[in-house]
Amino acid sequence: MHYQSILDDIVESLRPQLGRHGEVADHIPALARVPAERLGIALRTCEGEEAAAGDAGEPFSIQSVSKLFSLTLAMQYLGDDLWDRIGREPSGDPFNSLVQLEFEQGIPRNPFINAGAIAVADRLTSRGDAAAEVLALLSSLCDEELQVDEEVATSEMDAGYRNLALASLMKDFGKIDNPIPQVLEAYFRQCSIRMDCRQLARAAGYLCRRGKHPYRPDEAVVTDRQARRLNALMLTCGTYDAAGEFAFRVGLPCKSGVGGGIVAVVPDRLSLCVWSPALDENGNSHLGMEALEMFVAKTRLSVF
Ligand code: GLN
Repeated sequence: MHYQSILDDIVESLRPQLGRHGEVADHIPALARVPAERLGIALRTCEGEEAAAGDAGEPFSIQSVSKLFSLTLAMQYLGDDLWDRIGREPSGDPFNSLVQLEFEQGIPRNPFINAGAIAVADRLTSRGDAAAEVLALLSSLCDEELQVDEEVATSEMDAGYRNLALASLMKDFGKIDNPIPQVLEAYFRQCSIRMDCRQLARAAGYLCRRGKHPYRPDEAVVTDRQARRLNALMLTCGTYDAAGEFAFRVGLPCKSGVGGGIVAVVPDRLSLCVWSPALDENGNSHLGMEALEMFVAKTRLSVF
């Protein structure tokens, strides 16, 4: 398959729509300044072939895409004990909703809504510096040194009232072990890591390789079974209350973030990342979803 021309075609045909749909996230002030008129897409196959188009080399704030990698670490460390305090069902609610958490006694529906990722950050904090570990894992997976965007991290800490409320509610239910400021700092810093599409497409490579490291095939990042489970969670919960629509239109395990990035996996074939900062009403990249839909239509690569 000629991936490079497929990605070029996708960017060319979506370019006229840049800046026309959706809004850049503004609940984090530092993200509100990112220009909406950007679109990048990159992929890396299991054989190591790469293709990239548009703004694929421009770094952005990975935000909730980081939840995939913190969950990976928590699976490595805790195995099935992780699921004592976190569910595995789609939430059907916005990513930062408080309502369900109260009803369900401080047990988040899944690890990809904010409450779930904060619970994961708490479990990682019990073992060490959670954000530094996510950063180290990502740097190893994409084989490049990465950085936290300190301005975004500070901006999240200053404006993160809703996340503070989620963490406080879970603490009240006895589901958070560590001090809230420490847990939230870890969560905000992992969300503030900067990466570009090429780096994220590479980093997600273990998910299409049954858990094997994208650059070191003898090394398992997670087991085959854990990789399957990560993909299942991405498909059912990775794009929040639009997970059904993503399965319907794209049919690939995906994880989105409010920075406008979406990572997607074609098991046993390739991993890809698309970025466009303007979001739809569910907090997913509007053009990112369009690009993924075009990708599966052109390549016929979908799990369905
Ligand atoms: N840091 C963001 C927040 O807590 C992550 C949300 C997201 O990307 N969906 O609001």
